[in-house]
Amino acid sequence: MSGINPFEVARQQIDACAKILKLSPSVTTMLKTPMRELHVSLPVKMDDGSVRIFQGFRVQYNDARGPAKGGIRFHPDETIDTVRALSSWMTWKTALLDLPLGGGKGGIICNPKELSTSELERLSRTYIRAIYQFVGPERDVPAPDVYTTPQIMAWMMDEYSTIAGKSQFGVITGKPLPLGGSPGRGDATARGGMITIREAAKALSIDLSKATVAIQGYGNAGYHAARLCKELFGSQIVAVCDSKGGVCCTGPNAGIDPSEAYSCKNQTSSVCNLPGMKQISNEELLELDVDILIPAAVENCITDKNAGKIKAKIVAELSNGPTTPEADDILYKNGVHVIPDFLCNAGGVTVSYFEMVQNFYMYTWDEAEVREKLDKKMTAAYHSVLETSKEYKINMRQAAYVRAVERVVEAMKLRGWI
Ligand code: GLU
Repeated sequence: MSGINPFEVARQQIDACAKILKLSPSVTTMLKTPMRELHVSLPVKMDDGSVRIFQGFRVQYNDARGPAKGGIRFHPDETIDTVRALSSWMTWKTALLDLPLGGGKGGIICNPKELSTSELERLSRTYIRAIYQFVGPERDVPAPDVYTTPQIMAWMMDEYSTIAGKSQFGVITGKPLPLGGSPGRGDATARGGMITIREAAKALSIDLSKATVAIQGYGNAGYHAARLCKELFGSQIVAVCDSKGGVCCTGPNAGIDPSEAYSCKNQTSSVCNLPGMKQISNEELLELDVDILIPAAVENCITDKNAGKIKAKIVAELSNGPTTPEADDILYKNGVHVIPDFLCNAGGVTVSYFEMVQNFYMYTWDEAEVREKLDKKMTAAYHSVLETSKEYKINMRQAAYVRAVERVVEAMKLRGWI
């Protein structure tokens, strides 16, 4: 993660939106401040018998529209400010998609790659014991995020249910299928992003079957994005990378096979070991001459330093917070079509919401039904942002803020808070 504070970025974005909507200073302050946050110390017995104390957070940014909702990240560079920023973006994400939910986020400072499976399980259970009073199906519903998995969600759900003395599947989403997970949740973030790319390509008259794509980050979102770009559109994946570096493959009929890149990452820990490719850095990948650039890693990779060098026609932000406000201005001026994070990656939380509905009703939809409902939600959200951006002559991120913030402000007014 860069030296830029993501919460400062999130607050600047709200200031810009408050100006457009002419919001009062008190309403703006409310929108720029998390409503509640919990800081916890987590003692965990390690396999060698020692005890390590981890730091964890859960932030409920705003729950005017419904229970707080948002993932939990396990990351060595986690800070309270990254969690605050991410919880703020969750608030706008659920509002933009018109889900009856607020925004929250959690994080634990740890490097899950250095923990054994049983240490990871003890850490996950300890976290739930520490935040038990704070979360719940009608209060705050966590989910997976960077370095957290359906298995971790299963342990957390089990710990919560054990304390509650009853099955509480609805306390968390992104669970494995046999434990109330929703069909289609696994690739929902990437699939939702594909729907916004499809609509953007229509609006910009780009033929996706001839498009070239570069993807930064090859975790859950990045891998599925590569797979689906090829599968749904027939686009050519010309570059991929992860935290260790990347590879690029250009020339006629060239392209990276998404599943080969996936096995390479699993076997060697990085996509940069794919044979027969040109090695490139993360920075180089962002500046490639491609049609579509998909940031799918961590925050602040597109800044005022490199925004001017971006050649992609569409930047589809599958990660949260990849672009700084200064970079946004440069991209807009240069005519780059940015599909902002809390629109582009909203497929994950949308299917999480479907999972909550299925859990409440003790009923399972099939994958086709989930995909159809996701498509409807994402398509509507994309077009409402595009129209707003044209109407107000503002960039796509500001347009997304306008739509989302209006809804949160309306809910706070109706509840009599402001
Ligand atoms: N972590 C995902 C996000 O940032 C999903 C959150 C959820 O499903 O609640 O949108």
